[in-house]
Amino acid sequence: MSDPIRLRFAPSPTGSLHIGGARTALFNWAYARRYGGVFLLRIEDTDRERSSDEYERAILEGLSWLGIDWDEGPDVGGALGPYRQTERYGGYREMAERFHQEGWAYRCFCSPERLAALRNKEMKDGKNFGYDGLCRGLSREQCDERVAAGEKPVLRFKVPEGETRFQDMVSGEVRFRNEDVDDWVMVRASGDPTYNFVVVCDDHDMRITHVLRGEEHLTNTPKQVLLYRALGLEPPLFGHLPLMLGKDKKKLSKRTGDTALQDYRRKGYPAEAMSNFLALQSWALDDKTTVFSRDELVANFDPKDLRKGGSIFDPDKCLWIAGEYIRAHSIEVLAERCTPFVVEAGLATAEELEVRRDWYLQALAMEQERIKLYSQMPGRLAYLFADDGDVSYDEKALKNVRKHDEATTTLADYLEWIAPKLVDGFDVDALGAESKAWISERGLKIPALFQPLRCALSGAAGGADLFGIMALLGPEKVRRRIECGIERLGA
Ligand code: GLU
Repeated sequence: MSDPIRLRFAPSPTGSLHIGGARTALFNWAYARRYGGVFLLRIEDTDRERSSDEYERAILEGLSWLGIDWDEGPDVGGALGPYRQTERYGGYREMAERFHQEGWAYRCFCSPERLAALRNKEMKDGKNFGYDGLCRGLSREQCDERVAAGEKPVLRFKVPEGETRFQDMVSGEVRFRNEDVDDWVMVRASGDPTYNFVVVCDDHDMRITHVLRGEEHLTNTPKQVLLYRALGLEPPLFGHLPLMLGKDKKKLSKRTGDTALQDYRRKGYPAEAMSNFLALQSWALDDKTTVFSRDELVANFDPKDLRKGGSIFDPDKCLWIAGEYIRAHSIEVLAERCTPFVVEAGLATAEELEVRRDWYLQALAMEQERIKLYSQMPGRLAYLFADDGDVSYDEKALKNVRKHDEATTTLADYLEWIAPKLVDGFDVDALGAESKAWISERGLKIPALFQPLRCALSGAAGGADLFGIMALLGPEKVRRRIECGIERLGA
């Protein structure tokens, strides 16, 4: 049996988890899980100034929220750790020495001023910037002397002549001319190693077999492949995922939709909807299924099905998927997910909801069909928690009431008729049917009663079944709200 495949997600903790990054993590994870491989997390924190523990924590939390788990990582450890790059510096130094000793890297003493002048000249000549190799010609002795004199060189990779190719899992064969890759810096004058160098050290040391990552890294891949080849190593298989674009086909921005995963969490999107939606960005289960679980993603994931076409982030579709998941929730899950939002909105404390759990579950069930985000639940339930005299009547509801000249008289007559029937545990269906009969006996149309009645009970123009609302409010509150309604709507 061959060794298990090993994949990784390697975020830099310099900001919150971008949805593009979340998708990258999801596909690497799904690939590893599909084939019984290993999925690990590596924190690329070499940019010490911009990295923070908080971002790291938030990234881990975001991944867990999405349902992604990892077998090795900074928090769970693993045989090939540590899993934070700043804790692996010793290894990088050794590796840099090896490249230097074997003649694959050389010390460069060019000043920032010289490099800036070079860049200017090349720009003027219409060329891409590339180091001109001036220090390639320095002998070891010359370099040692300059170091002894206090100069601090960078270490540059000596790009060989020729052409390099690799097979991309998404785009097929990629070729590049080595002359288009300049002698890039592996180790800065400060001694800090750079991304393209450490990523190779780590992917090699951590025995990574496959790397799925964003297309923005495609220009880095040649540099990395050349390092592997220099050492006579086989690089992992790379696959570059197309950039996620907004509906305007431009780079995702705040304008076209939130870009941080945590914004979706905060706004009340189900995590399952987000992983489903992200999985649809350049991958599909088949040609017709939009809603599928993480298990189905794992069971069907094959990098061969990744598309190289741009993936378009459509917020409306994302919202639609969110609604689909919410409708499919069991009532317990719905309660668990909505409660933080209900509490946050100040409608009730978690303890108060617990005391009235059966009632609360009924209320949630009544609105389950109507929300697309958990955060919409408090708005829909607010009237149930309002004081009877303070139910806020919305404009649309009031407009409906104004259509009926006799609205308050009708309400008053109805109250007189219904009052004796409002007893604990009244039969919702029977009361509904009898109320309709009452309306037609009086030669009225249904809205003539239902519109003012709904306004009095919930303050809204539409919503759940009126008699269901009555059952939730209970006899006392129904009576009081109709009384208040007669007064307020008549004023
Ligand atoms: N730290 C890099 C990033 O966040 C990882 C790139 C890679 O996957 O090689 O973009």
